[in-house]
Amino acid sequence: MTVGRYAPSPTGGMHLGNARTALLAWLHSRALGGRHILRFEDLDVGRVRGWAYDATRRDLEWLGLDWDEEYLQSERLELYADAVARLKTYPCTCTRREIEAAIQDSAGAPHGPEAVYPGTCRAGQPDPSRPAALRWKVPDQTVCAADFLTRQTLCQQLSTEVGDIVLRRNDGVFAYHLAVVVDDAAMGVTDVLRGVDLWTATPRQIALQQALGYPQPRYLHVPLMTDYAGERLAKRGGAPSVMALRERGEDAAQVRSVLAQSLGNGFWPVPLPPEVALDDLLLLWRHKLDRLLL
Ligand code: GLU
Ligand code: ZN
Repeated sequence: MTVGRYAPSPTGGMHLGNARTALLAWLHSRALGGRHILRFEDLDVGRVRGWAYDATRRDLEWLGLDWDEEYLQSERLELYADAVARLKTYPCTCTRREIEAAIQDSAGAPHGPEAVYPGTCRAGQPDPSRPAALRWKVPDQTVCAADFLTRQTLCQQLSTEVGDIVLRRNDGVFAYHLAVVVDDAAMGVTDVLRGVDLWTATPRQIALQQALGYPQPRYLHVPLMTDYAGERLAKRGGAPSVMALRERGEDAAQVRSVLAQSLGNGFWPVPLPPEVALDDLLLLWRHKLDRLLL
């Protein structure tokens, strides 16, 4: 059976971009007759807003999206600790500035799109007077991710393109990559539909699954909603909030139509009618998947 999830961070209300991803994740689970999970990714306590949990639930309900199970990552810390204990890690006390300086100094200067931790503490020189983060000794191998929806493949050499990633920050907070992998496995998630901003993080998540002996879900990355300038919508950037639309008395069916339309006609197997019902969208999503399977 298909198991899908929507995994928001309760750091604020949902904006239209979050709502579109939530809609697609729900459509995917339901079009396949699967279970749908709501998972609050609330490990970064400093950024969590207590009101955002209920606001998110109300927004989803208003949009007509339901879920069968709900989880809070903040209640699952033991699972993450157990997983970290099973991986090869080492303490790291480098500051961000020290890491940047070490990268500058190394002959290979920044080459990839991302700053790669140069492995300073791998040999074991952490500063005992500072709190330590835990880094994963990534295997020296190339890992590829395949996307079912976009048909793209992305391969990354873990040591040179990703580096030893942090699994637990020096303030004790477990890292997103670890929690997402542990939870998807524990919850039996078969299909991960999420924003394309996480596409480049997929190979390292697959690497963690492999190291922990977990099955690999199917990945479907969907476009992020952008504003007129082509910038992605952000909670801080004044993106229209779902709560505001809801409280203003907008029609949820119309908002859903707008969300589906905003993906462009090319996204759907046939042009969308101006007002599209959830049942129609379920059929269209089913069609889209059938075509991908051909
Ligand atoms: N919590 C992540 C976010 O809000 C999504 C994680 C995921 O879908 O893997 O961007
Ligand atoms: Zn270090």
